[in-house]
Amino acid sequence: MIIVLKPEATEPQIDHLLDRLRELGLKTHMTQGEERTIIGVIGDDRILQNQPITAFPGVESVTPILAPWKLVSREFKKDNTVIDVCGVKVGGQKLAIMAGPCAVEKLELTVGIAHEVKAAGGSILRGGAYKPRTSPYSFQGVGREGLDYLLEAKRQTGMPVVSEILDTRDIELFLQKADIIQIGARNMQNFELLKEVGAYDKPVLLKRGLSATLKEFLLSAEYIMSRGNRNVILCERGIRTFETQYRNTLDLAAVPTLKELSHLPVIVDPSHATGKWNLVAPMAKAAVAAGADGLLIEVHSNPECALCDGEESIKPSKFKELMQDLRKIAVAVGREI
Ligand code: PEP
Ligand code: MN
Repeated sequence: MIIVLKPEATEPQIDHLLDRLRELGLKTHMTQGEERTIIGVIGDDRILQNQPITAFPGVESVTPILAPWKLVSREFKKDNTVIDVCGVKVGGQKLAIMAGPCAVEKLELTVGIAHEVKAAGGSILRGGAYKPRTSPYSFQGVGREGLDYLLEAKRQTGMPVVSEILDTRDIELFLQKADIIQIGARNMQNFELLKEVGAYDKPVLLKRGLSATLKEFLLSAEYIMSRGNRNVILCERGIRTFETQYRNTLDLAAVPTLKELSHLPVIVDPSHATGKWNLVAPMAKAAVAAGADGLLIEVHSNPECALCDGEESIKPSKFKELMQDLRKIAVAVGREI
């Protein structure tokens, strides 16, 4: 439910209302707009059905949020959320281009790729230190030291880093070493992990589950936000369909749909969405044209020897070319890189 306050509402009137809502066991989120203050009420707001909220002095109107996701919804917050990641904005006019290897391998390789990404105009470095692999015999990531390699790359390039967390027990490590914590597709409904990252204000990159509907996706984002963390980035990374020609099917309609349903930034991962390096550039361009706020792209200087997802990784030279093309598309849709 959204309570809109009158412009002339006084502080004691607002406090009186907030006290009453808390007494009823409801959580409140205040948003101070330029003209109006809005109180989002979260919890089982059926409690309010018989409460004459409009009778409170200072209240202008009361509107229920019909969507099952509340804090995430466009009804709750009209303006786009812009997340500041160490000075790089995600969700603003400028597109956030996150790129780097699927998995962090060696220090020199990570730092080398980071420099290439930065030189081409990338803004955030990606790299998995812990890898959620389908087979237990596949490379599982270098672990904790991978985060240190990313930090060294950040020190040298100035780019913030995003890396995937797999286990709630690693939260302190990620809070210290990552600038964005990624929740991968396989963990989109790992509710304990969602609640854990929701308890801090560290930005979270939430990837859509392999077979998740947009409703399930947004409810997972709601888990994070309902714990207090407002810095959630949604990532469309392709879904399972009957088509076997590529790894997944990129659901591009999800981009404008998510932007309509939610105020959160939406980015696209054309690498996992296709599983094929030659499809990454066309899908990245389509994503920007469809209104994505950014991209997550796998870049590797030697894809043939990559320890993970070499078949969908593009070389730095291709990434550079792609960035040049993306600049033109961004301008055509009123954005910039
Ligand atoms: C990744 O981005 O490293 C990854 C594993 O992607 P997804 O969770 O989308 O499969
Ligand atoms: Mn990968």
